[in-house]
Amino acid sequence: MIQVLPTDTSFLYSPDSGHPDCICSRCGARIRGHEFALRMWTTNERDEMDEHSREYRYCERCQAGMGIIFFDRTSDPDLDADNFDPFYDQNTEDGI
Ligand SMILES: [Zn+2]
Repeated sequence: MIQVLPTDTSFLYSPDSGHPDCICSRCGARIRGHEFALRMWTTNERDEMDEHSREYRYCERCQAGMGIIFFDRTSDPDLDADNFDPFYDQNTEDGI
């Protein structure tokens, strides 16, 4: 489970990883260009994003702290990308 903490910072803008303003909501570190930033947005009462939506984003180190990834690996080997067959390969092999 991902928990947003009351101390996490939210943002009204969403810069790409590597941008100087791409700061982690939790630790405040700059999210580097090669990092995968975990991003979540608030929604309005209709469950839609709007001009008031705020982004929470987390650097890879904080994601690891949440137990989501360990840099390039997930904590669950069954979820590792190497264990998944690409969907399109399954279809083409079946002649669909
Ligand atoms: Zn962080």
